[in-house]
Amino acid sequence: MSDAPVTDLPLTDLPVNALPAGSTIGILGGGQLGRMLSIAAARLGMRCHIFEPGANPPAGDVAHAVTTAAYEDHAALSAFARSVDVITYEFENIPTAALDLLETLRPIRPGREALRISQDRLTEKDFLRDLGLMTAPYADVPNAAALDEALARIGAPAILKTRRFGYDGKGQARINNAANAPAAFADMAGGPAILEGFVDFTSEISIIAARSLDGSVACYDPGENVHKDGILRTTTVPAALPAARRTDAVLLAAKVLNALDYVGVMGVELFVTPKGLIVNEIAPRVHNSGHWTQNGCSVDQFEQHVRAVIGWPLGDGQRHADVVMENLIGDDMARVDQIARESGAALHLYGKAEVKPGRKMGHVNRIRA
Ligand code: AMP
Repeated sequence: MSDAPVTDLPLTDLPVNALPAGSTIGILGGGQLGRMLSIAAARLGMRCHIFEPGANPPAGDVAHAVTTAAYEDHAALSAFARSVDVITYEFENIPTAALDLLETLRPIRPGREALRISQDRLTEKDFLRDLGLMTAPYADVPNAAALDEALARIGAPAILKTRRFGYDGKGQARINNAANAPAAFADMAGGPAILEGFVDFTSEISIIAARSLDGSVACYDPGENVHKDGILRTTTVPAALPAARRTDAVLLAAKVLNALDYVGVMGVELFVTPKGLIVNEIAPRVHNSGHWTQNGCSVDQFEQHVRAVIGWPLGDGQRHADVVMENLIGDDMARVDQIARESGAALHLYGKAEVKPGRKMGHVNRIRA
C-alpha cells in the first residue's frame, strides 16, 4: 500500500471500471442539485447531460447538454441514455417505466434498490427496521378506515404522511387528537399514507455518506438541522453532539449504504433522542443539508457523488472549517445584496428567474471564526 493520498493517484491507476475525464454523466432532473453536480463534474473534466421535463432548468445554465422531454417520452429517454456513459439523478421520484428503459442502456447509480426503497415511506421504514435501526413508530394507512386503528395503536400526537411524492414538509398533516384525523386524511388527496408517532427529539442531524464502486464508505461530519414549516432553514457543523453519537451516526449510515450495495452520496436524516438516533428518512442523492461541504471541505458532496458514480476513488471529505449553511427561500433573496458584502460568507445562487414563497433560490455558507 502506498501512503500517497488518493487524490494523488495518477489516472492510469484508477480502478478498471472508472470513466476517464471527458466522459458524460447523464443526470435525471435539472434543479439546483443537478446544477451543483454539473459544476463539480466539470471541475473533474466531465460533461453533464441533463434530462428535465421543465423548460429552462437551473442545471441547464452550466451543463454540456439538456434534453427537455417528459419521462414518458421513451424515444427521448433512449437518445439521452445513448449519449451518456452513466446515469444518475437528483431526485427520487423518477417513474419506474423510465428507469426500466434506461437501465437496459446504461448503468444507473445509485442503483434501483435505493430508489425503490426511498420512493415509498412505508417500504423505507420496513427496510430500516429490518436492518435493526430505530424509526418512529409507524402504521400503514391505506384508507380512511385504517386511520382510526392506526391512531389507537400509535397514539397522538402523530404525523400522517403520504407514502409517495412528499417533500419539504408537503403531503404531511399533524394529528393532535382523534378529532382532527379526518381532516388530516383529506390532506393526503386520497393517496395511501403512513402514520408516524411524533418523536420528541433533542435535535435533528443529518449525515451525508458516500460509497464508491469498490465498496469504500466515507462520511462527512454530521450537521445539525433546523426546519421551519417542514423546510430546511439552516445546517450547522459541527453539530452539538457527543462523540459517541457522532460515531453512531457514521456506523448507521454505513450500514444503510452497504445493505443497498450503494454507489454515490446519500443523505440520512436523523432525530437525536436520549435513547439514541432515530432515522427519519434517507435520500438516495446529494442533499440540502450537505451544502455546507462546498465551503467546509476540500471535496464537497457534489464532487464526492460524481467521483462515486464514475468509479473514481472517494475524495478527502475532512471538514476544515466550522460552517453555518442558511437556505435562501423566497423573499430571502431581498437580502442577497447585504449577504454579498458579508465577510466569510459564500453565496450560492441557483439562477431561478422567478421568486416564489417556499422556493429554494440559493444558500449561503458562513464560515465561523
Ligand atoms: P420529512 O419530510 O419526513 O423529513 O419531515 C420534515 C420535518 O418534519 C422533519 O425534519 C421534522 O422536523 C418534522 N418531522 C417529520 N416526521 C416527524 C416525526 N415523526 N416526529 C417529529 N417530527 C417530525
